[in-house]
Amino acid sequence: MYNVAIVGAGPAGIFAALEITKLKPDWKVVLIEKGDRIEKRKCLLREGFAKCPTCKKCGLLCGWGGAGAFSDGKLTLTPDVGGHLDDYMSREAVEELIDYADKLYLKFGATEEVFGTDMKVFRELERQASLAELKLVHSPVRHLGTERSLDVLKNMQDFLEERITIRNDVSAKNLIVECEQVKGLLLDNGEEIRAEYTIIAPGREGADWLTKEFSQNKIGMVNNAVDVGVRVELPAPVFEPLTSKLYESKLIYHSPTFGDEVRTFCMNPNGEVVQENYNGIATVNGHSYAEKTTNNTNFALLVSEKFTEPFKEPIQYGQHIASLANMLGGGILVQRFGDLLDGRRSTPERIKASILTPTLSCATPGDLSLVIPYRQMTSIIEMLYALDKIAPGTASRYTLLYGIEVKFYSARVKLTNELETEGVKNLFAIGDGAGVTRGLIQASASGVHAARVICSR
Ligand SMILES: Cc1cc2nc3c(=O)[nH]c(=O)nc-3n(C[C@H](O)[C@H](O)[C@H](O)COP(=O)(O)OP(=O)(O)OC[C@H]3O[C@@H](n4cnc5c(N)ncnc54)[C@H](O)[C@@H]3O)c2cc1C
Repeated sequence: MYNVAIVGAGPAGIFAALEITKLKPDWKVVLIEKGDRIEKRKCLLREGFAKCPTCKKCGLLCGWGGAGAFSDGKLTLTPDVGGHLDDYMSREAVEELIDYADKLYLKFGATEEVFGTDMKVFRELERQASLAELKLVHSPVRHLGTERSLDVLKNMQDFLEERITIRNDVSAKNLIVECEQVKGLLLDNGEEIRAEYTIIAPGREGADWLTKEFSQNKIGMVNNAVDVGVRVELPAPVFEPLTSKLYESKLIYHSPTFGDEVRTFCMNPNGEVVQENYNGIATVNGHSYAEKTTNNTNFALLVSEKFTEPFKEPIQYGQHIASLANMLGGGILVQRFGDLLDGRRSTPERIKASILTPTLSCATPGDLSLVIPYRQMTSIIEMLYALDKIAPGTASRYTLLYGIEVKFYSARVKLTNELETEGVKNLFAIGDGAGVTRGLIQASASGVHAARVICSR
């Protein structure tokens, strides 16, 4: 019998485990992770495969460290982005949790430098942004880079291995619920894990499983938005006035035509565009490495769509658009902005006749207007012109647009302010899988919060 069972060794699950071992060193904790240990994790795409072979367990998203392992390791140190924790507690409480989680990253080897702390510089950039009708969000960033991120996670694994039971390569299959109280988990190998408390932290990868399991146990869920868009790639100097000062600039725009919110997301100065795989569908993302640089900068432009009744399937909507791009391009599509405006597809020859080389070489030159709905496409084009005012060259005809980038946010579990499910006692749901967070630092902070609540009972 364990005191606590945790599902998922992403940042949410890991930080819950770290906090429990600190507050209750004698407690028996088991952490169930369906993927590999950190040193065994492998993504064939990252190792040079031209196309995503759609592994049974996605090496990019599953395993110790979760989706954060091969991520760029950008810790965005503000409650304003990366999650909704401030819906469950005061802003001050979220700030405290973020600061605490950040210090833990530092303890396990994160880089010291934080970008975007100079308020004088920020105010000036904010001023320029507002002249272009853009809102610049203050978001200091600690950037680990993918290599450092892996080291930090390995240090955490070494630390926890001596204190808790870590089970890799096995999935949580069902919750064991008796008399409206969780009693543990049934694993996919038939094993039963009994525990007083259970924390569910399966990330976006396990969100479908969570939704199914929770609805079977009559735990309420609320729809979240889906963000659909493209990854923009341009010469690094175009965005240097922003990236050299803030590293990542979070800019928000409301498109004049539709009034939809468009935002920049996951900016990678001198980074590269990468393909990822979501349930067998190829989607785009970006990385930057601390030691390896390119001449390009990339970032996502995402349009948020929150649907109203009767539509209840935002994830399927996003998947549908992404699979349309896959259908046309056999994977990811890439198009020059100029070709999009001229109403023609990009071709390998046109891509070659450019001032920048795509960093995602497997992307197929094509036509994104055949894929992205008019509403989102219009908003993206309008945002590119707005960005061009603060970073001239953004709306250049050579700017590359890769599609589709989609952010599927898991349906949000109905939770108390302690992140315990409404309906089933002693069951906690945290991180991206519960729809509570959308980024590394808030996912980590949600783990600390749930752990503190459990340890205080
Ligand atoms: C390519 C990429 C780059 C990113 N870059 C950044 C960034 O720079 N900054 C940032 O803030 N965020 C970034 N993110 C987002 C960030 O990684 C996530 O917000 C964060 O990892 C969420 O943490 P989590 O613990 O909730 O879930 P995850 O990290 O997704 O971890 C969930 C874990 O649970 C496991 N699991 C799922 N179901 C089960 C089950 N049934 N049984 C057992 N185990 C299960 C999965 O295998 C996975 O390891 C990036 C994401 C990706 C994909």
